[in-house]
Amino acid sequence: MRFKCQAVKDEILEKMNLENRYKIVNINLKAICSEEQMNFLKQVQDFCVNYEKTKNIDHTEDIYSYFPDFGAKGYISRFHKFDEIDQNYKEWGLAMEMMRYLAVDMFDTQFSMSIGATTLAINPCQSHHQGRSEVLEALKDLVTGQALGCILITEPERGSDATHMVSTCEQHDDGSYSISGTKIFSTNGPKAKWAVAYACLEQNKGETMGQFLINTSWDGWNVERVQIPWVPRIWIGKEELKNIKVPKEYVLGPAGRGIPNLFMGLTMERIGIAFENIAECWGALSHAMIYSNMRLQFGKPILNFQGVGFTLADLWSQVGTITLGLLKLSEKYDEKHEKFNGKIPKDMAQMFELNASMFKYRASMLAERVAYECANLMGGAGVSDNTLMQDLLGITRIQEIVGGTRQIQQYILGRGIRSLYKLL
Ligand SMILES: Cc1cc2nc3c(=O)[nH]c(=O)nc-3n(C[C@H](O)[C@H](O)[C@H](O)COP(=O)(O)OP(=O)(O)OC[C@H]3O[C@@H](n4cnc5c(N)ncnc54)[C@H](O)[C@@H]3O)c2cc1C
Repeated sequence: MRFKCQAVKDEILEKMNLENRYKIVNINLKAICSEEQMNFLKQVQDFCVNYEKTKNIDHTEDIYSYFPDFGAKGYISRFHKFDEIDQNYKEWGLAMEMMRYLAVDMFDTQFSMSIGATTLAINPCQSHHQGRSEVLEALKDLVTGQALGCILITEPERGSDATHMVSTCEQHDDGSYSISGTKIFSTNGPKAKWAVAYACLEQNKGETMGQFLINTSWDGWNVERVQIPWVPRIWIGKEELKNIKVPKEYVLGPAGRGIPNLFMGLTMERIGIAFENIAECWGALSHAMIYSNMRLQFGKPILNFQGVGFTLADLWSQVGTITLGLLKLSEKYDEKHEKFNGKIPKDMAQMFELNASMFKYRASMLAERVAYECANLMGGAGVSDNTLMQDLLGITRIQEIVGGTRQIQQYILGRGIRSLYKLL
């Protein structure tokens, strides 16, 4: 049972069920999404509604227990078609991934964030497998939910300054590497089978960085859990990498390729976080929209008081516009990806990186405000443990930090303005 003491009336709790929360999003999206997008969204939503009912999910479970079931349906990642590992998804690309996020995040936001971290291991395996069976095996494990993934960029002494890593790699004559160093705040770290890690031949020399796929059962992997109280069901790791031997078949990027590969991954990571954040906004809004229509004070639904109705209208308009922007960006990216056969021209790719920062920046700030304001509008009910608002309040407080802080996105965008100016 999610709560011991019921603070919200049965009737309201029942009305705020997942199916109704999805209906609110669907009514909003119908006019701006294609038929294919809506069909896929509904397909994932139906699965989630059914899963919640048949498995009696109350969102206190171990989120990692959901992975195999969602993986079997193909709901872990839709960034790619994944034909190399025989998945051949019909619905794939950024816009479809956005639909997947909207459905899964509203089902369970902490689960959705842990999927996001697995995706960060999926994307480099997908981009750099070069047909190697060892990497494809890991990719299949991850995409089908048979195993968890994590990404190791951040170190205790190098967070925002990720290109000056202290972790080192040593190259051997047979093409293998040995990796040593300490990593921290790795989402899924203690649960992951596959980790994608970065390290440099020489400390602080980003140009010597490599990118490595590690099986966490290998000698030299040591991990403990870092507690982040706002996301109590997500396991976040601090890893001591002690001379881990990475065979050449698992080298995703040799020394020197680390930084381009890192930035390629960060663009998708930021878009993914923006998807997650906008889904969190819809999660919070849908609760508050239903609640404010049903909760009576002074003999009227609280929605009818301007303090509530106008605040909700303001939040709704912000969420609606960012949703539309993200969808448009995703569709255009998918279009260009197809047109240029996966090799988007450099100028467009650079602008896309900046767009990813813009949306990550805006959507993470918006999610924090929307979750807080919606909980606030719901009064005591919004801050109690009776609904998933509790999870949304927690998770939205860390979104500005993950994937590069708010200030780092501003820093990237500031440099972008300089590059634009130089083109004049
Ligand atoms: C829940 C959670 C999950 C995470 N998951 C992962 C993961 O899976 N993998 C991974 O590798 N990392 C992960 N991280 C780490 C995350 O990416 C870093 O925390 C983040 O990049 C900031 O690094 P830091 O914590 O060292 O802060 P610092 O870099 O020390 O920053 C501290 C403050 O200084 C500001 N600052 C730093 N440099 C500048 C600058 N140049 N200009 C202006 N302000 C600046 C920052 O904005 C921040 O406010 C996770 C973090 C959290 C909290």
